[in-house]
Amino acid sequence: MEPDLNNSDILSQQVEQSSPPEVLLIEEPHRYECSSCGYIYEPTVGDPRRGIGEGTLFTDLPKEWRCPVCTARPASFSDIGIPSKPSGFTENLGFGFGVNVMTPGQKNLLIFGSLAVAFAFFMSLYALD
Ligand code: FE
Repeated sequence: MEPDLNNSDILSQQVEQSSPPEVLLIEEPHRYECSSCGYIYEPTVGDPRRGIGEGTLFTDLPKEWRCPVCTARPASFSDIGIPSKPSGFTENLGFGFGVNVMTPGQKNLLIFGSLAVAFAFFMSLYALD
């Protein structure tokens, strides 16, 4: 006697069971930079002067939208990724004693923080007698 289920039934059952669960990916919206003038479209800000509300993705902008600075078309904008992303090329992130994986904000803090510490150190030498 053969079992009632044939192979394709079993296979389709397995496929249904192994389908991935719904995952909500909450990702920061990508920013886009105008290649003509360097204007950066911030989705978190939008373009209030042209009635584009905050939270509007660049891909959701109306077709007639133009760069607020140089009136370039959306096609001349390039995706520059999320704001809190290390700058530079991806293949260089492993170099630089770990400094290359820092975001621009973290690098600023490191540079100007160490300058402030060095200044305070040299000023403290006046306390010596
Ligand atoms: Fe522009």
